[in-house]
Amino acid sequence: LTAAIPDRTGDDVLPGVKNVVAVASGKGGVGKSTVAVNLAAGLADRGARVGLFDADIYGPNVPRMVDADDHPQATESETIVPPEKFGMKLMSMAFMVGEDDPVIWRGPMIHKVITQLIEDVEWGYLDYLVVDLPPGTGDTQLTLLQTVPLTGAVVVTTPQDVAVDDARKGLRMFGRHDTTVLGIAENMSTFVCPDCGDEHDIFGSGGGREFADDNDLPFLGSIPLDPSVRSGSDDGEPVVLDDDNDTGGAFRDLTAETA
Ligand code: ADP
Repeated sequence: LTAAIPDRTGDDVLPGVKNVVAVASGKGGVGKSTVAVNLAAGLADRGARVGLFDADIYGPNVPRMVDADDHPQATESETIVPPEKFGMKLMSMAFMVGEDDPVIWRGPMIHKVITQLIEDVEWGYLDYLVVDLPPGTGDTQLTLLQTVPLTGAVVVTTPQDVAVDDARKGLRMFGRHDTTVLGIAENMSTFVCPDCGDEHDIFGSGGGREFADDNDLPFLGSIPLDPSVRSGSDDGEPVVLDDDNDTGGAFRDLTAETA
C-alpha cells in the first residue's frame, strides 16, 4: 500500500493517483454508495491514502454518510482543496448544490462538471481514488470511462434477479470500454433477525456469487442486510470502522479482497 506512486506523463489525468476504482450498480437502492463509503473508509483504515469522489449526481449522499464537517475550499489558482474525514479526501456534488436542490442537467453539463471535479480537485498522492457512480449506464459513466484511467470497477448487486439483470448491463458497459471489472459485491444478502437469530433471505440468496461465477469474475463478498449498516450511514459512522460489528467485519473482508 505504501509503494511509490508510479511515474506518469504530465498529460495524465490524476497523475498522483495509483488506482481509480469505480463502484457501480445497475439499479438504485442496492447499497452502491454504502459499499463505496465502507470500501474507501476500510482502505484508509488499512493505511492507504484514499480519496472518495461521490459522482452520484442525482443522489449525492456521501457527505452525509461520513458526516463531513468541512466544505471544499477554492484556492487562488482556481483549484479545489477537498475536505477530509476518516483519513479520506472527499468530493461530492452535494458540496456544490443546495441540500434539497435537484440536479437537472443535460449530458454536456454533466460531462463538464464531472471532468472539472476530477481535474481541479487537489487529490494529491493517493493509493486509491474510489468513485461512487450513479446507478445505471448514463452520462456520468461515459464521462468517467472516457476521461479517467480506471483501474477497474466493483459492481454491487443484491441477490435479487432484477438487480442482477441490471448489473449485467453494467458489465457490458465496462466490457465495451475495456475496463476491468474487479469483482462483484453482494449486498443485502441475508437478514439475521435481531430477536430470534433466524436467517431470512429477503432478496433471495446466492444471486451475486452466481452472477460472478457465470461471468468468471471474482466474488468479493456478501454483506448482510443489517440495521447497523443503515444507522451507520445515517449517523455518519461507516460500520467498517466498528471493530466489534460482524457486518463491519464483512466490509473489512470485502475491502481486503478488493485491495
Ligand atoms: P444506492 O447507492 O445503491 O442507491 P445506498 O447505499 O444509498 O444505495 O443504500 C440505500 C439504502 O439502504 C440506504 O438507506 C442504506 O443505508 C441502506 N443500506 C444499504 N446497505 C444496507 C445493508 N447491508 N443493510 C441495511 N441497510 C442497508
